[in-house]
Amino acid sequence: MKIAIIGIGSVGAAVATAVKNTGLAHEIVLYDRDNVRSRAAAEDLGHAAAFSFDVKITSVNNYRGIRGCEIVIIAAGANQKPGQTRTDLLDANASVISDIVPRVMANVDPKNVKLIIVTNPLDVMVMLAHRISHLPAARVIGTGTMLDSARLRTILSRQLSVSPQSINAYVLGEHGDSSMINWSSAAIGAISLDDFCRQTKTHLPKSTRATIEHRVQNAAYEIIRGRGATWDGIAGAVADLLRCIVNDERRIVTVSSMANVTRDGVAMSMPRIVGCDGVITTIIPKMDRTESAKLRRSARIIRHNFDCVSKR
Ligand code: NAD
Repeated sequence: MKIAIIGIGSVGAAVATAVKNTGLAHEIVLYDRDNVRSRAAAEDLGHAAAFSFDVKITSVNNYRGIRGCEIVIIAAGANQKPGQTRTDLLDANASVISDIVPRVMANVDPKNVKLIIVTNPLDVMVMLAHRISHLPAARVIGTGTMLDSARLRTILSRQLSVSPQSINAYVLGEHGDSSMINWSSAAIGAISLDDFCRQTKTHLPKSTRATIEHRVQNAAYEIIRGRGATWDGIAGAVADLLRCIVNDERRIVTVSSMANVTRDGVAMSMPRIVGCDGVITTIIPKMDRTESAKLRRSARIIRHNFDCVSKR
């Protein structure tokens, strides 16, 4: 499979490495408006490929070079500087998505292509890319809260001394400050989180849950403070999403999409079954009243931000 990555900054380069390491692509095409940067990344990655899978990695200096790509990953645009929120990137990155998506669509097969959106603020960028591309909603997929859910599983894994792979717990809503943890549907193995805590005599009171939610929401800020940007976690999320799609795994992941929209007609993260056709089904999990209210608030924030960029 031929895969394109648009935007070869910290995230795009890490995504390229992660995609290469899946072994699922025979060719990876890199495009960045800064040609020097993408050419250097292609060189470097090409050398790394000599130690692993035989992947052809090329840098192209115009969009004709992405012809034949079945998946296009968009990781271009401004990133958060220390102290900035994802929403602060709204105007700058709406322009970036509006620049990139028409050029991509002019060079790919609209009957097949899937767009994976990484650029922040993620949910609004998914809505924009969907509107501009005219693709079916199922094939415009944002990484959404896949990364936030992974962060949650990592924290819970340490708290409960159980592998993250046995934890089914999701962060839903905006990939941003209004994201929320869906505690009501969290399960460890085949039993609910509450039953697990009872059986293992683990104490997970409301105050600890609130601290965990705060840590998940603020993980990116902490990483940006320490290393200037985040890239490894999101690269892992993109590679995982790619596996779901290319291998038609039909796994449940919390991606952002306009497919089967549930609230306020916005793209936001819900548990969704993802396979070779993109988003197949959206699962509506059990939620208590507080969680439902938080999710509604998250949807309202995304709607407001989308309306703001749409008016400009
Ligand atoms: P970066 O500044 O390192 O790289 C951005 C790259 O985009 C640059 O190389 C730039 O030349 C390129 N670019 C900008 N406009 C372009 C255009 N119109 N066409 C082609 N290329 C263009 O930034 P980064 O750290 O790599 O972050 C990229 C994006 O990913 C940001 O929006 C960031 O917030 C987002 N991000 C998302 C997640 C997530 O979970 N979804 C996680 C981390 C970062």
